[in-house]
Amino acid sequence: MSEPKTKGVLYLVATPIGNLQDITFRAISVLQEADWILAEDTRVTGKLLAKYEISTKMISYHKFNLKRQNKTVLSFLESGNRIALVSDAGTPIVSDPGYELVNLAIDLGCDVVPIPGACAFLSAYMASGFGNEGFYFVGFCTKFDKKLLEIDVPLIFYEAPHRIISFLKKLLDFFGDRKVVIARELTKLHETFYRGNLADFVGNSDGLMIKGEFVVIIDGCKDEASYDDAFILRELQKEIDKGLSHKEAIKQICLNFELKKNRVYSLSLQLK
Ligand code: SAM
Repeated sequence: MSEPKTKGVLYLVATPIGNLQDITFRAISVLQEADWILAEDTRVTGKLLAKYEISTKMISYHKFNLKRQNKTVLSFLESGNRIALVSDAGTPIVSDPGYELVNLAIDLGCDVVPIPGACAFLSAYMASGFGNEGFYFVGFCTKFDKKLLEIDVPLIFYEAPHRIISFLKKLLDFFGDRKVVIARELTKLHETFYRGNLADFVGNSDGLMIKGEFVVIIDGCKDEASYDDAFILRELQKEIDKGLSHKEAIKQICLNFELKKNRVYSLSLQLK
């Protein structure tokens, strides 16, 4: 009796998000030893392969051809091939194509093996200073759901470079003036962290180099008790200094920090 055919393996291989040195030894050997590499953009991945002298053949695999390519890849897996999926940058599947293939490979009985490495949102979170008690990864977000307002851990967003300014404005309008960390060009020459409140950057983007790639992290919702009186008074004064009347400043602060009007009004009486 012939041996049952061994199923192939699907490797999900993280690649650098800018700095080509951010790749693991294991990722390099998996890419070298794979039978095929599925690449979102073969030119982008080609540069990485050239740097590490990897000559494995590539197959184009992106959101516009993945339905068709899945069939081919499944037949390769069925005949025992080792397939490595990479995206243009970072960790495959994270806001990148391929999760359907993961499920198809699982259904086929193949091993699906993650090869961890660079990831833009984790790099941004590590250096954000937002703590270590969890986060909510939203990724790209075109429409904000109300449930996001109640999340009390930092929220992490991806945004395309050409939309960053309008995106920050949308965040301010929807969430109020929350604390924000904007991580630009992570791991690259011009890596920069901008820290402040959303209003600091909206309408005043001069300090924000708007070229490049961005991860945006905003603070989660805070309950009323977490804002002390001194903080609220300072924020009220800032609004008044911008030219708002007392009444308008109270309204703005209630909106920005989801505070009860009575409290902000009584505090405002301390201001001249
Ligand atoms: N799979 C990738 C990962 O692991 O982070 C994310 C791919 S997603 C299509 C691309 C988005 O990730 C960009 O629009 C940007 O928001 C973020 N991004 C990727 N590289 C970045 C970098 N070097 N600096 C800042 N953000 C980056």
